[in-house]
Amino acid sequence: MGESKKRVSKGEEPRRGTGAVPARLGTYYESTVPDTLDLAERARLGLHHFDSITNASSDYEMSFYGDFRTHPASMGPLATAVLGGCQEKAWEAIAYERLMTGSTQNLDREAKMVDMLASMLAEDGLQWISCDVTKKPWIKIPEPCVGGQEPMMEGMIVWYQYTGDQVWKQRIDRMVEGMEKLVVHKDDYAYIPVIGYIPGEYYQSCYVKRGWKDTSEPVNEKAGEEGSLFNQQGNNPDAMANWYMLTGNEHALRLSGQLVRFYTKPKFWADWEGGEYPHVAGAEHAHWQGHFHGHLQTLKAILRYAIATNDERLKEFIRDGYEWARQAGFARIGYVGDGQGCGTGRLIGLAVMLSYHGVGDYWEDVDQYIRNHGTEMQFTPEDKEFLNRLSEGGSPPQNAPGIFTDDVVDRAIGGYAGSPDKTSFALCCSARGNMGLFYAWDGTVRHQDGTAQINLLLNRASPWLDIDSYLPYEGKVVVRNKTAREVFVRIPLWVDRKAVRCTVGPKEASNRWFDNRLRFTELRPGDVLTIRFPMVEKTEEWVVPRIAGDKGPEMQVHTCKFKGNTLAEISPPLVPGSPLYQRSYFLKNEAPMKKVTRFVSPLTLKW
Ligand SMILES: [Zn+2]
Repeated sequence: MGESKKRVSKGEEPRRGTGAVPARLGTYYESTVPDTLDLAERARLGLHHFDSITNASSDYEMSFYGDFRTHPASMGPLATAVLGGCQEKAWEAIAYERLMTGSTQNLDREAKMVDMLASMLAEDGLQWISCDVTKKPWIKIPEPCVGGQEPMMEGMIVWYQYTGDQVWKQRIDRMVEGMEKLVVHKDDYAYIPVIGYIPGEYYQSCYVKRGWKDTSEPVNEKAGEEGSLFNQQGNNPDAMANWYMLTGNEHALRLSGQLVRFYTKPKFWADWEGGEYPHVAGAEHAHWQGHFHGHLQTLKAILRYAIATNDERLKEFIRDGYEWARQAGFARIGYVGDGQGCGTGRLIGLAVMLSYHGVGDYWEDVDQYIRNHGTEMQFTPEDKEFLNRLSEGGSPPQNAPGIFTDDVVDRAIGGYAGSPDKTSFALCCSARGNMGLFYAWDGTVRHQDGTAQINLLLNRASPWLDIDSYLPYEGKVVVRNKTAREVFVRIPLWVDRKAVRCTVGPKEASNRWFDNRLRFTELRPGDVLTIRFPMVEKTEEWVVPRIAGDKGPEMQVHTCKFKGNTLAEISPPLVPGSPLYQRSYFLKNEAPMKKVTRFVSPLTLKW
């Protein structure tokens, strides 16, 4: 099992520019592995989704929304929120997923979509949303404007690393310069105004050719699109601090720091009407209320700057903010925020980043999130029956330009649900949800100088070792060593350490614990480590507060059957009609096997 590795293809040279060919970056082989959670296979679904919702007839724009309650299921319309926001996030996720899977499908279409995004970059370095109605009649803005720059900048930073193409570096450097036009400097900080010319939710705060309409300083966090300053612009310091760390661009770091000093002002934190708990200075500990995604991305941005400048006080601020974020909802499965598919992806990103940089050890959290809400909100082929049933008896879709009704159920597969009843997908959710897959995949195994660290017991191929995980069917993990001399394996919290048995090849190995990690040394290429422990099945009762926007009672007791960290059954469902967590097949005690093509690349991305 798992040994039948043969090389099935070798990549050719990519064309330069936007269409990098993943095959250049790694090698492929076939392997028989346990049919358990496989993030690379989930990423393959993600790529299918992003390609399927890219409309060649609409200048390669992606559909923003899919609805399975209409008959037939429908998607669209093309929306002003796509460009300058969600599509760039999807574009970032695509690079991650090409690297996870090595998939070379639809690269030509992808290249045209990338060219379209790049064509929006102007001489001043900024990404302008064009209102050329002859080309894009669905963009309802009266004049060209500048929306958020950070989705494009973050996308370009990833594509620069993924393709190695210097053209992205030039474009990012130019965008950093262009950002000066958008910020207002004051004392030691800078801010981006949030009131502007353009009507419509997503364009209330746009910079146009004549500049800002109003440059007054935001007084609280509740201004801007979706009522959140942080949602509108809070991740700008993230991209710029990351760019500094990658290339040493001092200007980017300076701007990042000026914005961070603004976003960390006490007026933006602990700002709810009822006040704070007694004896707690919430604004010093990143307590917050309001827009979940906005706060999460701003926490991650501040953390990036804290890492770039080694600011330990800011790091602690973000640790508190992360732990605060997981108090609402049901963090045991990553069901937090506003119930959208994007929330868990963001939470995974922040938890992984905090763990990478030693601000905390949140791998148990990540394991809980990715085995549950971080993947359960993704549409998989198994959802098709449910989605088709939903659509039966639905009302006809709106008849408007940009509404598509062909194969919508199939095109949704790989996307993420916009709500826990799984009745719709949204591009923001698909993008961030798929990024969550990458963050957990990236964190599963890390390597440096011959030492590998396995943080999550998930299926994973890598240049250093491959992991075959039989969880949650069996308490069994097989590590197939390639190049590592030493391996640390983090064992989940629920495992009884006294019952753990390890073998290296046919030989029993003694357990050497380093905190919650098992250590193996003097390994040789080809060594096979097998770790076994009893699975734990538990029925737990949890009081789950209603999540903003959801239906149902304010507090609901749910009976949950867990196997390890995997939620196999829940009763009643999270929200009425939700198909999530009907996974009693996980209660079986033998993992099914399947044949997959594994892809490994030595390239690691700094995200
Ligand atoms: Zn979303």
